[in-house]
Amino acid sequence: MTAPTPLIAGNWKMNGLAAALGEARAVAAGLGQVPGRVALCPPATLVDRMRQALAGTAVALGGQDCRAEDNGAFTGDVSAAMLADAGASLVILGHSERRAGYGETDALVAAKVVAALSAGLEPIVCVGETLEQRKAGEALAVVTGQVRGSLPAALAGKAFAVAYEPVWAIGTGLTPTTPEIEEVHKAIRATLVEQFGAEGAKVPILYGGSVKPSNAAEILHAAEVGGALVGGASLKAADFLGIIGAL
Ligand code: PEP
Repeated sequence: MTAPTPLIAGNWKMNGLAAALGEARAVAAGLGQVPGRVALCPPATLVDRMRQALAGTAVALGGQDCRAEDNGAFTGDVSAAMLADAGASLVILGHSERRAGYGETDALVAAKVVAALSAGLEPIVCVGETLEQRKAGEALAVVTGQVRGSLPAALAGKAFAVAYEPVWAIGTGLTPTTPEIEEVHKAIRATLVEQFGAEGAKVPILYGGSVKPSNAAEILHAAEVGGALVGGASLKAADFLGIIGAL
């Protein structure tokens, strides 16, 4: 079985004005031969301008969330088709900041995945346990439960990625040990194979949570780690390139 093509995706969250497009250009200009794919997921306001800034480069574009509906009276929200129309080819779904801050359930994330697929977007579906759940020995059960609940059968035959992001490691500077990451990634892999058969073996499983240039090599080369979802360290081209260079 060939290993999944690795993906390194930068999640800018609610950061970035027009001036930040220079960082995106610097990422594209600094990419050498990368044994994988690279993507940036800016706020929705920058997707179209980043598409223009990155035209002709190897950096793909993603959104950070989408509505499950195609259109309608949903003030302030963005649909998958709108992201695709603006130039995105991927979308992050089920990020813990949305699960916790907006009460997003596995069922809602699964509905958003279906919407993303209909718009031709590749979903990056995030899962991860809280510190309390890890301390209670529930990490594997929580994460595999989220995988089962958030990945609809409609994903069969489609390109998608799963991102394991322990909630307690996001933006904190804390990271799980390599054996802890591998344990969860192996459990996610087994669940993917259970759900999608042989195709489940080809889905990249990204790690996310305080990835930086200094820890990227160890994390990216851990068993069943197929790339990274990077928050804070994706805002500066030099840091993001340092992580990509560790692939
Ligand atoms: C994230 O929010 O997806 C993330 C991984 O953030 P950070 O790298 O800043 O921990």
